[in-house]
This record gives sequence, structure tokens and C-alpha cells, in this order.
Amino acid sequence: MRDSFNREIDYVRLSVTDRCNLRCTYCMPEKGMCFLKKEEVLSQEEILFLLTALAEQGIKKVKITGGEPLVRRDTVALIAKIKEIKGIEKVTMTTNGIQLIRHAQALKDAGLDGLNISVDTLDPIEFRTITRVGELTRVLDGLKAALKVGLPNIKINTVARGELTDQEILEIAGLAQNEALHVRFIELMPIGLGKGCPGRTQEELFSVIQSAYGRLNPFEQRLGNGPASYFSLPDFQGKIGFISALGHCFCAACDRIRITADGNLKTCLHMDEGCSLKPALTAQNKELLLTQIFSAIQQKPEKHHFFETQGDSRFMSQIGG
Ligand code: SF4
Repeated sequence: MRDSFNREIDYVRLSVTDRCNLRCTYCMPEKGMCFLKKEEVLSQEEILFLLTALAEQGIKKVKITGGEPLVRRDTVALIAKIKEIKGIEKVTMTTNGIQLIRHAQALKDAGLDGLNISVDTLDPIEFRTITRVGELTRVLDGLKAALKVGLPNIKINTVARGELTDQEILEIAGLAQNEALHVRFIELMPIGLGKGCPGRTQEELFSVIQSAYGRLNPFEQRLGNGPASYFSLPDFQGKIGFISALGHCFCAACDRIRITADGNLKTCLHMDEGCSLKPALTAQNKELLLTQIFSAIQQKPEKHHFFETQGDSRFMSQIGG
């Protein structure tokens, strides 16, 4: 599938739930979240119907997102089934890691091709403050389990919040020193509760890391599906990546669409408008489904407009990140 700017769309980010076992301050309010009802969330059958149709149209890569995907009971089984769809080459997942220790082996057995784990700090007290309810040790144990079972392509995602100290930046980057995993710093997006929060720029992070660990050399190969720019450091097993949608806009190379947990197709993270695929999926009406998808892709904007307009008014967990 190509959009009206001739970008090839071959990657879908699919949210399987809007629920989460954490309450990160930049993502969800502490109380009063209104979650989707079970019947509003896409069923396993609907997801497989959707992805089979998308694969026939050239979608090759699927990222399972949330909320937190592992709070949905059938996520691991779903991944195994998605892996069987003809044309799907890679299935990866994002997680907050809280339940990873329980699922690492099953995810490996299901054939997961890559895992992004969110780690915003390595300080347990700070971690509790950010997530409101989370225990850092559970995430780190989950990470160890993922490495131990040999899950491929493990990446640590860190949101570059304004409060991130130089020391924390170095500790988190240091995770890539002795383990074969990549650390990515993600620019804070002005979405939901992230609006108006201060963040640290790619340039600041770059200079902190470089002054302690040596020269960051550009690494030209792609590591997975994402738009991160990667750098190598001397004596580091993994790479350091930066994802900066605002400071270093990568819209020209955008290859993705998003599906929210209730089946809303979004062609840009920033746009409020979406198109509900749920009725077509429930009715297994492939013709209607593809008509809606093709039409939406033709409306895909050339780039985000974070600097000019408000954009999507939902929380990040409701969009699927
Ligand atoms: S940022 Fe991720 S882990 Fe934190 S509350 Fe939102 S969905 Fe959950």
C-alpha cells in the first residue's frame, strides 16, 4: 500500500488493550480512567481477520502495543497466531516489563521477533513515583528473564523527561554496555498528559553520553521497524538510539499505521481523526474493511503538526503509543 506521498505502508502498530497495570504520570491520571468495555475491544478473531487482510495488502511488520499488552490474557497466544499469517515477517511487542518474568519463555516459544521494554529510571523510588504503583525490581527481573531465554532484539525505551538527571542517563545507557540490548531515548511527546511537560533534547542526551562513554558513532543499519537513529559506543555490546519526532522529524520516512484497541485506524499519531474498523471486522466484511483502509491511507498527512495544533486529545495509553 502506498499513501498519497508515495510512502510504502508496511508496518502496523496494533494496540490490544487500553488497560495497564501501571499509572505512569505522563500517560494516565491516577484515578478516573474510563477504560473500554470488553465487547468494545477487538477480539482475537477480529484481530486475525484484520491482520490477514492487511498482510494481503503488503503489511509485513506488526508491533503489539497497549496500554500494557501482557494484561490481556490471550496476548501470547495471539502473537503465536499472528506469526502464522502469510506475509507477516516480524511480530514485536512493547511492554512495561512488570509481568515479563512470567511470560518471557512463552513469548520466545511464540516466535516473538523483538521486545521493547520501558525503563524510565533505574532508581526504585523514582520508578515508583513515575509509575505510581510499579516495582522496578520486577521489570529488571523481567529483563533478565528475557535475556536468559534468548528473546531477540531487546530494546530499552526511556522517555527523556525533563527530570532525567545526567547520572540516570548514564546508568540507563550503561545497560547496553555488557548486554546485547539497545537503549533508546524517546523525546517526550505533547500528547495527553505529556502536553506541557518539560523534556530533555536529543542534543543534551548526546553530549552527556558522549562525555562519559566516548564518541557516539552513527550506526547506519536499521535495527527493527522504528525510526530511531542509532549510534555505537566503544566497548558497548548494544547501540544507543534516539527517537525524536519533534526535534528530528522522521515523517518523510513514515511507513506505519496504528490500530487502537477498539479498532480505530489512525494514520498519524498526532491526528484526532480516525476511522472505526470495528463494524467491518465484526461482520467480517473484507470489502468494506479494505475500502476504509485504502481511503484512510490516502488521507495520511505528510507530517505531524505538533508545533501548530493540539492534535489527539486522548491519553497515550488510549492511542497505543
Ligand atoms: S506509559 Fe505505558 S506503562 Fe505507563 S501507564 Fe502508560 S501504558 Fe502503562
